Amino acid sequence: MKRTVNQNVTPCRHMEGLVQGAAKGELKGIARWYAWAHIHRCSGCRAFLQRLEAATLALRVAKEASVDEDALVRLRRQVSQLAETENDTNKNA
Ligand SMILES: [Zn+2]
Repeated sequence: MKRTVNQNVTPCRHMEGLVQGAAKGELKGIARWYAWAHIHRCSGCRAFLQRLEAATLALRVAKEASVDEDALVRLRRQVSQLAETENDTNKNA
């Protein structure tokens, strides 16, 4: 027997906030129970949760990725030069 799989990957409209809360671990009490009970039986919300978790992971990796220190120094120098130019312009005005 062929099992039909729900290919829907969009969350139920009324669940979007709750699924986001569940992904962040912010839910408590009945909201937490309700969200997980729904996610467990709803493929759309489950897929949404998985995408949220993947996105959160990608953000964490991007945040931890090393920054080119030289580029940062050059950027800071340019910003301070711009700030000085701005100050001079204001004084002369
Ligand atoms: Zn759902």
